[in-house]
Amino acid sequence: MTMASRKRIVMIAHDNRKRDMLEWARHNYAVLRHHELHATGTTGGIIADDLGLEVHRFLSGPLGGDQQVGAALAEGRLDIVIFFWDPLEPQPHDVDVKALLRIAVVHNCPIACNRATADFILSSPLIHADYRKAASPGDLAPAERLIDDIGMALRS
Ligand code: PGA
Repeated sequence: MTMASRKRIVMIAHDNRKRDMLEWARHNYAVLRHHELHATGTTGGIIADDLGLEVHRFLSGPLGGDQQVGAALAEGRLDIVIFFWDPLEPQPHDVDVKALLRIAVVHNCPIACNRATADFILSSPLIHADYRKAASPGDLAPAERLIDDIGMALRS
């Protein structure tokens, strides 16, 4: 399973983390603008308005947006998840949040739940390169394949 160099990135932020998400997106504007952006409804509206970037919007998270994102990950329609969930407040759609976290791991999708991890993902040489990822936990990608992909990314 190959992720193309133009990644399909989805952004989701719970209410107390939306400010964090917006600051992160502003900080990473130069990288984000080269990729295909998706988001849950409210998060996507805030980012699209502020940064002037095109963002495909799913439903709002509590209304089913997290489930739509999970389905898109399972079907291979998204590559990377930036998910700033709130660790300090209970959420009405907690079961959807858990399901999304689980399905991202099942399908071996890079997922960042805080700004530091999101920065590391966006600054990886692989962000602008093709990347052959293992499709599931049972499919072990040979180490040489990853080393090849990183090598090619660093040379390009
Ligand atoms: P929102 O959804 O971007 O529509 O606020 C995020 C969430 O609460 O999961």
